[in-house]
Amino acid sequence: MDIARTPETPGGNVEMADAAPQPKAPPMIRRDDYRPFGWLVPETKLDFELGLESTHVTATLTVARNAKADPAPVIRLNGDGLEPESVLVDGVPATNWTMDEGDLMLPLTGEAHEIRIATTIQPSTNSQLMGLYASNGMLCTQCEAEGFRRITFFPDRPDVLSTYTVRMSGPKAQFPVLLCNGNRIAVGEGGDSHWAEWHDPWPKPSYLFALVAGDLVARNDSFTTMSGRKVELNVYVREGDLDRTEHAMESLKRSMKWDEEVFGREYDLDLFNIVAVSDFNMGAMENKGLNVFNTKFVLADPETATDADYDGIEGVIGHEYFHNWSGNRITCRDWFQLSLKEGFTVLRDQLFSQDMGSAPVKRIEDVRILRMAQFPEDSGPLAHPIRPDSYREINNFYTATVYNKGAEVIRMMRTMAGEERFRAGTDLYFDRHDGEAATCEDFVEAIEDGAGLDLKQFRLWYSQAGTPKVSVSLEHEGNTATLRLGQVVPSTPGQLDKQPMPIPLKLALFDRASGKHGGEQLVVLDKAADTFTFDGFAEKPVLSINRTFSAPVTIERDVPREDLVFLAAKDDDPFARYEAMQELMTGHLVAAVSGSLGDNDRAAARADIARALGAVIADATLDDLMRGELLLMPGQTHIAEQMLVADPGRIHAEREALKAAVGAVLAEDLVAMHARASTLPFTMDAAGKGARKVKTIALTYLAGADPERASALAASQYDSADNMTDRQGALMVLAGLGTAERTARLIDFYNRYQGNALVIDKWFALQASSLHPQAIEHVKALADHPDFTLRNPNRVRSLYMAFAGNPSAFHAADGEGYRMVADLILALDPINPQTAARFVPSLGRWRRIEPGRAALMRSELERVAAAPHLSRDTFEQVTRSLD
Ligand code: ZN
Repeated sequence: MDIARTPETPGGNVEMADAAPQPKAPPMIRRDDYRPFGWLVPETKLDFELGLESTHVTATLTVARNAKADPAPVIRLNGDGLEPESVLVDGVPATNWTMDEGDLMLPLTGEAHEIRIATTIQPSTNSQLMGLYASNGMLCTQCEAEGFRRITFFPDRPDVLSTYTVRMSGPKAQFPVLLCNGNRIAVGEGGDSHWAEWHDPWPKPSYLFALVAGDLVARNDSFTTMSGRKVELNVYVREGDLDRTEHAMESLKRSMKWDEEVFGREYDLDLFNIVAVSDFNMGAMENKGLNVFNTKFVLADPETATDADYDGIEGVIGHEYFHNWSGNRITCRDWFQLSLKEGFTVLRDQLFSQDMGSAPVKRIEDVRILRMAQFPEDSGPLAHPIRPDSYREINNFYTATVYNKGAEVIRMMRTMAGEERFRAGTDLYFDRHDGEAATCEDFVEAIEDGAGLDLKQFRLWYSQAGTPKVSVSLEHEGNTATLRLGQVVPSTPGQLDKQPMPIPLKLALFDRASGKHGGEQLVVLDKAADTFTFDGFAEKPVLSINRTFSAPVTIERDVPREDLVFLAAKDDDPFARYEAMQELMTGHLVAAVSGSLGDNDRAAARADIARALGAVIADATLDDLMRGELLLMPGQTHIAEQMLVADPGRIHAEREALKAAVGAVLAEDLVAMHARASTLPFTMDAAGKGARKVKTIALTYLAGADPERASALAASQYDSADNMTDRQGALMVLAGLGTAERTARLIDFYNRYQGNALVIDKWFALQASSLHPQAIEHVKALADHPDFTLRNPNRVRSLYMAFAGNPSAFHAADGEGYRMVADLILALDPINPQTAARFVPSLGRWRRIEPGRAALMRSELERVAAAPHLSRDTFEQVTRSLD
């Protein structure tokens, strides 16, 4: 994208002489422009005089010229909304500094200096939740990516590593707990006030700084590391939340053990603190020794958290903990390298969760997330490589591409190398770059050298955006099966011509009669087209390809329905079984939506699908967790993604019709499955979780076929529930129905959990994501509910992310859904731009939607683009989406 492009005005007339001046586009930052910083900052001392309304900050920086950089006569200290109250160089007031945008530019003449700067900030008015802010009477920080510059002037870039010593003081009653990175080295008090001093021995970039002050209580525990060091562990929460922290603590200990065993990584401080805060833009943050978490990823008990919440907590606790090595000990040279820490750490948290629970089910869930969130990103206007080339606002690049596709790319290296050699590669990486700010290239080189792989061509996965399409066909003649593969990497914004990439595909060829194969093989397709032959097949085998989803690609093949039915029933790779079942349903739905199906074909396809699903219900070799995966219908987004231009209304209608048809054919099997699963007592093991999963799936199919019966069964599941998974599942089904049970249970749920923010979030989300025909009216009413606020990101997401992800409501044909989301973006942007900008992609998909709706979506984007004073975050997303 070119620099400084002004947004197109609705009339498209850029020549209008006396049109209102368009605000200047924020500058484009480019990866190629990276230069090392001119100064080193070996030591940083911070002094905080804490107050909710006003906090005084004194920063003392020791700086020295960086011999590896071009000489810099002026040091640039980033600032955002700050005013320097005093600037001292070597103890002497400086007067020769200037301001450039928000940054402080200070000329320095010597080789080394001490800079001292005082600022005052206002945490309680900080609604962006970046920098130091107030949440529920406590103070906390969020510095990644560029929040530290809202606290004090500093070279706020990840390649400037410094050792921090922090003193903080404040009223004892208001802030009894004072936390920072590293170890507490001194405490003291005087009158109503007290103070603490913290020192972090590990040099770190400013984005890993954290401070917390508040009235908190902790669950404590300890962990003894592989070399026998005892580490104190604390999970800090508000009083009253303590009994919901056990799972978080157990997850932390499991993470620490797992990273030692699987990656050989040991923790490196005597203390590890986690703090839960209820106002947080993201999931959690890996600040050194002081992880700050969204309460959503800490608090759980069976009464208020679902099985998915429990899994989410374990995964995110693992993720942040694993960052201690992949992110903190080795950090990023610049923000274009974000996937260096995020892609790798997501892979690490995925592997951890695979090992803690059902590996195949976790893999299926991760692929589903990738397809739901990343594939649409990769095929839309915001597509970017996992290592982007440019940005205006880095917050916009904390994406499913950088995180989840980034993880897939590293997983492919692991698949090609094998676990052992991959481990040799990561060992070399940690060894070689410990203490450094590294690049993705450094990582690839380390894997190449350590694992003994040639990744020359593979590097394209870092530079090319777009999900490759792999065409597959299998021919058979004599004793030979011939596999023809082709690949196309689609054009994406700014990248029209693509080169073929190495695509590792695990495959197996099944003998139809025995249902067996002669061993899984790995082929790497590294050309535009290639052919592979396999001998010893008297009959044409059934092909199972991209097993375990070995490559993040779309497979395009013409495969007979009977082969899919075969694989769905017989494949020994659980992922491939799931995939076959999905393909069976998706293939039918795409054909039905495109209008290419006659009545007989439609009936035949539905019957095959119902039979295959019935076989899954009956298959005694399956556990319920896996059974649940095999029974899930493909999501509307996934179906839409298969079509060049989608009609959301038709997709919804066909999908509901299939659900109803299956629900009718299998009604008694579904009811029996529900009854069987209902006899199990509540346990947190796989059997218990699986039982709860299939119960709610049974209800969803029944709801399509027989709403009255489903409603009664759901109401009884709700009423007898002794856990949130059952209760929420039942309420989700009820929320989509127009029955009397619906209203009563929604009211009950609210009354039961009023005051528990995380559960009330569920109450909002259930209604906003429901299949109810009036969902859009419900969302409007909920926006006026006294519990709704734009100031809390969890609450905003619970209503509007759920709504934007509910195609049947969001894509209302008259454009009302689009209007509501555009209104939200405009209202939220001045309060919390980072969160506001995250709603733009839902409108940005207009090119892939049928023309009537596309025009409505586009005009809402234009309305947003035309608003004065848009944040950099929203400006960038909206202009890219209109381009
Ligand atoms: Zn992360």
